[in-house]
Amino acid sequence: MKRLGLIFFLLLLICTSCQKKKGDWFTVEKLDNKTYRIRENQSSQGNSSYLIIGDKEALLFDSGSGENKTGDIKLLVDSLAGEPVTLLHSHFHFDHIGNSKAFPDVALPNLPDLQDRLGEDSCIHIREQESLIPQTCILKIRTQYPINTEFNLGNRKISIYHTPGHSPWSFTIVDKRGKYLFVGDLAYKGLLLVNDLDEYQNSLSQLIQTCDSSYQILAAHGNEDLLYSDLDKIRLALKAFQNKRPAPKKEINLLGNRKKMYVIDGIPFIYDKTVNY
Ligand SMILES: [Zn+2]
Repeated sequence: MKRLGLIFFLLLLICTSCQKKKGDWFTVEKLDNKTYRIRENQSSQGNSSYLIIGDKEALLFDSGSGENKTGDIKLLVDSLAGEPVTLLHSHFHFDHIGNSKAFPDVALPNLPDLQDRLGEDSCIHIREQESLIPQTCILKIRTQYPINTEFNLGNRKISIYHTPGHSPWSFTIVDKRGKYLFVGDLAYKGLLLVNDLDEYQNSLSQLIQTCDSSYQILAAHGNEDLLYSDLDKIRLALKAFQNKRPAPKKEINLLGNRKKMYVIDGIPFIYDKTVNY
């Protein structure tokens, strides 16, 4: 009888953990009353998106992988925001633009070259080369955000900076009062993808000058947060690579392609300027 009880208890434990896993695609982390990190730990790239809420509107920085078949990030975001949500992408890689169609208000930073890509229908076509997978995407743009200038979400001012290097159209959000730096894929703990060495270093330098060690650096991948000093570590590693051009540590498979992986001062990265990461 004791044995049966133990088996029943174990089965209950397994069922409970299965249920938990099924419902846990999104993990919400409250950074403060108006700032949330939404993790997708089970997604292929382990993405994090960020919800930044003001008194009048909210901004979602990336819409995630779109790989979850059981629930939409839009429903989750609406339940958290309480204000109209505008979606802004840190860049156009496939794992950051999922579920975009669920959002009626998608924004584009008002960078002239990017604006030029808007059609008369206010749509921007994300090409396969940009999304990194054989899949195109059309984003209908409703909002234009100013770049390099503070704008107001309602008692919450933020700035958007163009920070290329990981991809030509990469953006970083800065909340100076909240001391948050949302860096997208420009910096995280893990294998970095470098498309342009000069631009990458310049973007990091700009962010290093813009913030300080009191800021929380919030990345789109990885479970461990970066320190302010990590921004300069990455910059210096790329600079050293540029000067010495060392041999790759190994070759790895990246989305079906063989790529050379380098490690300098503990910073792992792939550099391939021929691929528009
Ligand atoms: Zn990316």
